[in-house]
Amino acid sequence: VKIKVAVLLLVAVATPAQAQFTVFMSPEKERKIGAEEHGKALKQFGGVYTENNLDEYVAQIGFTLAPHVSTPQPEWRFTLLNSPMVNAFALPGGYVYITRGIMALANNEAELAGVVGHEMGHVEARHSAQRYSQAMATQIGAGIVGLLGNIFLGTDAVGSLVAAGGAMYLQKNSREHEDEADALGLKTMARTGYSPQAVPAFLQSLNDDTALTMKLLGRPGGELEFNMMQTHPRTVDRVQRTIQEVSAYPANATFRRDAYLDRIDGMLFGDTPDQGFIRGRVFAHPQLRIGFTAPARFYLMNDDAAVTGTRPDGVRMQFDSAPRQYARSAPADYLTRVWGAQARLANVEQFTVNGMPAATAQAAIQSQQGGQAVARLVVIGAGDALYRFMFIAPNNVARQVQTELIQSVRTFHRLSPQEAAALKPLRLRVVPVRSGDTQESLAARMAMEEYRLELFRVLNGFRANEKPEAGQRVKLVTE
Ligand SMILES: [Zn+2]
Repeated sequence: VKIKVAVLLLVAVATPAQAQFTVFMSPEKERKIGAEEHGKALKQFGGVYTENNLDEYVAQIGFTLAPHVSTPQPEWRFTLLNSPMVNAFALPGGYVYITRGIMALANNEAELAGVVGHEMGHVEARHSAQRYSQAMATQIGAGIVGLLGNIFLGTDAVGSLVAAGGAMYLQKNSREHEDEADALGLKTMARTGYSPQAVPAFLQSLNDDTALTMKLLGRPGGELEFNMMQTHPRTVDRVQRTIQEVSAYPANATFRRDAYLDRIDGMLFGDTPDQGFIRGRVFAHPQLRIGFTAPARFYLMNDDAAVTGTRPDGVRMQFDSAPRQYARSAPADYLTRVWGAQARLANVEQFTVNGMPAATAQAAIQSQQGGQAVARLVVIGAGDALYRFMFIAPNNVARQVQTELIQSVRTFHRLSPQEAAALKPLRLRVVPVRSGDTQESLAARMAMEEYRLELFRVLNGFRANEKPEAGQRVKLVTE
């Protein structure tokens, strides 16, 4: 979830460029592009996740599938990304990527193999090469985004997103491409000996995960950017039909559930320590030693570049640090001369937040949905860095929310060494169900404060009325 506001603009600008490009590259050219983009993909999605050699496990599954693809490829490269986002994608030249967010959601090895096989299908059918050509066309439109983004987001953030090929990874596959990748992937996994029935089961988990996230975002029924459901639009019905069409049920098809659960036991869940942690409305960063509490009802998300948040009344927020060269600037100078230099700032004020110098201003802006909105900008000097809050409130609520926005900013503080040391990442734990356990009693052992039961169901593929059976193994999220 990188620089949400900018990406929404990017997508809007990109739409006219979605003409059909049928530029076919040579295999050599595809490999060269894949190799070039690989480094950028790693940078954008948190690098490789190597704990417990899980990256090797993913590669092992990929290389087990590889001999069974319909169109043999000269080279495959499988990468497990250290990102909590739920997504998977492929680059030209045989590069396949899976996030640990995907692994947390899968309940057996066949489900993961289904995702890997599907992405291999996109490579086999050369969809990724076509998508790359389209993304290049899209980047021509990105100059406009640079100008818009410049005012409030800083050109660096927008520039790096575009340069990193974000447009390519975030592009939606067409239905035709999805059906083709499904057919190829299902054949591959069936020939390898995995049950194709794992694919619709995992798709159901993806649906449920998206629905829960949208509920948390206050947009039930909406679509989630950067999520696998968005980039790979599929339905359980269509996958079931495809399974019948390829009629590929190996007699002894396996799921390998226990082997999979053994491997993911202890895996990181959610943010990594170097990105800081979100717990409900609280953001705390043990390495930067800072923290704050967002206003009521905000749902926060975190990535390398920023903490972003939304809530049902349409107010959005973004928290990040100013580019390093301004770290020693006075907050008011930076606000008026750099960050807000191109905006018409009103009500510029200086104040202090827990002893730190701060400055704030408002500006009337056009929101990305086309409506009028008020941006509240805040800069705080924390010694070695300048931190920035930006809240965007639609005009109909802008006036009444200003007090609570400033109250939230006033919770910004430096963490004590004890507070920083107490912050631990969340991890998945695989535990056996004991007799007498219910969904509720198991969910109560999870580390989060809200939506525990809902998350427990999504992670374990449980329906609401389904009873956990004694001896069955389930995933919990704990510290
Ligand atoms: Zn797909």
